[in-house]
Amino acid sequence: MNILVCNVGSTSLKFKLYEMPQETVMAQAYVERVGSADNGIYTYTRWSDHTKVERTQVAVPTYTEGIQLFLDSLLSEETGCLTEIAQIEAIGFKTVLSKGHYGVHRLTEEVLQGMEDYMAVAPAHNGPYLEAIRVFEKLLPDVERIGSFETAFHQTIPLSESLYAIPYEWYEKYGIRRLGYHGASHGHIAAMLLSREGEADKVVSCHLGGSCSLCAIDNGKSLNNSFGFSLQAGVFHNSRVGDMDAYIIPFLLKEGMSIDEITHGLEKNSGLLGISGVSNDLRLVEEAAAGGHERAALAVEMFINSLVSHIGAYTAQLGGLKQLVFTGGIGENSVSVRRRVCERLAFLGVKLSPERNESAQKDKIISADDSRVKVHVIPANEELGIARNVFQLVK
Ligand code: ADP
Repeated sequence: MNILVCNVGSTSLKFKLYEMPQETVMAQAYVERVGSADNGIYTYTRWSDHTKVERTQVAVPTYTEGIQLFLDSLLSEETGCLTEIAQIEAIGFKTVLSKGHYGVHRLTEEVLQGMEDYMAVAPAHNGPYLEAIRVFEKLLPDVERIGSFETAFHQTIPLSESLYAIPYEWYEKYGIRRLGYHGASHGHIAAMLLSREGEADKVVSCHLGGSCSLCAIDNGKSLNNSFGFSLQAGVFHNSRVGDMDAYIIPFLLKEGMSIDEITHGLEKNSGLLGISGVSNDLRLVEEAAAGGHERAALAVEMFINSLVSHIGAYTAQLGGLKQLVFTGGIGENSVSVRRRVCERLAFLGVKLSPERNESAQKDKIISADDSRVKVHVIPANEELGIARNVFQLVK
């Protein structure tokens, strides 16, 4: 069965076509600068023989043109791997949030309405997804469209961990509680540990990328996630705020700031960027810190502190820590973040092997042989997690 996985950004589209259940990648593509009349970038690879298409200055004023570019490559004699579009049996979307639909769902009008209902909670994600899903509906009306919501893996978080101590009616009326996100990534980590280690007990998975979240996993299931009702919570992100005292918002409103100014600040000018004033890219912040920039050093220190305190809290919730996993752009690449976090966890028996931590290998165990906690670096593969979820639903 051929399943197309589609990841929609506000100005980008990523595609990966899988043959399931073999989990073979057939083709992948990346469209950048969607919205541009003449300056889009398109890259496509057919995996069987590495045939590539690389184009710049392409017209992608809307998602329609971006999706069409990919469909043309898939069907072309020189680059393609399909003879007709009907060979795609389902499209899986890395959708984020729909009120009342938190798992893996066919994208019916009701599910799409749920995405509209929670637009204010995930505006940067739900808007682009709704637009792209409608385009697929028009272009490929006969292909099933499935949403693998980022909340799906976290439905096992107990209510006693997911509720906020707010008036209970707000939970009943508006559904406000910790939902958790990055489900495709943490779910993939749990599946990898189950297949490699034979168990996924007392695990903390750290997805550290442009946005960051930690997940407590036991018996292969999510028991906690540092994201909250929205994707603005938990450890701080490259330019988003993370956890913050709720009363800061009414205070700033009373001081005369508008709600738009406040949300803009919390979304675009907080996190690593907000504290360092240097960049939202950890590489540049670390570089500045090494050169003596005090606020950059403070931002990195705060980032490490928040990772360590979440790992500590989850270790207490899990009743111990057996495996610690780093994934995502920062988790996979930053030797220093992994070293600093693990040094602080020495009291739990975490002991890194410096050579393993620094080796160029992407997928590796970085703890020393006598470490009480096994520390892994596992490359994120959210698309595969989605392809598996979609396959389970439609097979
Ligand atoms: P996204 O969450 O947008 O999918 P990624 O998971 O690819 O992003 O992570 C991107 C982030 O990874 C960038 O913001 C960058 O700060 C960080 N990053 C990548 N390589 C390194 C590195 N060597 N050291 C520190 N941070 C890195």
